Amino acid sequence: MNELHVTRARGRPVTPPADRRAALEEAIAREDWTPGQGWTPDRALTDADADRLAEVAAELHPAFAGDVTALNQALVRHAAVPNLHGDPPVLAFHTPGAEPADAWAADAATALAMVIGVGQGRRLRSCEAEGCELVFFDVTRNASRRFCGLPCQNRAKASAYRARRRA
Ligand SMILES: [Zn+2]
Repeated sequence: MNELHVTRARGRPVTPPADRRAALEEAIAREDWTPGQGWTPDRALTDADADRLAEVAAELHPAFAGDVTALNQALVRHAAVPNLHGDPPVLAFHTPGAEPADAWAADAATALAMVIGVGQGRRLRSCEAEGCELVFFDVTRNASRRFCGLPCQNRAKASAYRARRRA
């Protein structure tokens, strides 16, 4: 989701996937998102859904920099409201029958709001490596993660090492 809208990731320019829908379906399969875990599209995604989801990714990005106003607007815009769906009932934050992009946005925005609302906003992080705009949720015990992943961590270490050598 992250990569649907950033322009630089892991030190390289990122061009949006030519086929966003295929990229999304691949990500959904990879993450094994199943009904009950938040986002539960009840129909196949269309190209228009994928475009709207890219907009949602851009809309939620500022929350990772602590922009509460943007997050509150997203909660309203996508009609986030707690309710029980299905049998057995599962707690969700999108209304039954919501369009996939709205459903995902409502659930994701609520999750981000909960993290901030319980005083854990510092765990919503942006990668600190040069040339990377990816955001992530820091689950380390002391909230000390600085990079989106090992490639960025390794690049940052190598460039710090080179800087020390030069000094
Ligand atoms: Zn990174």
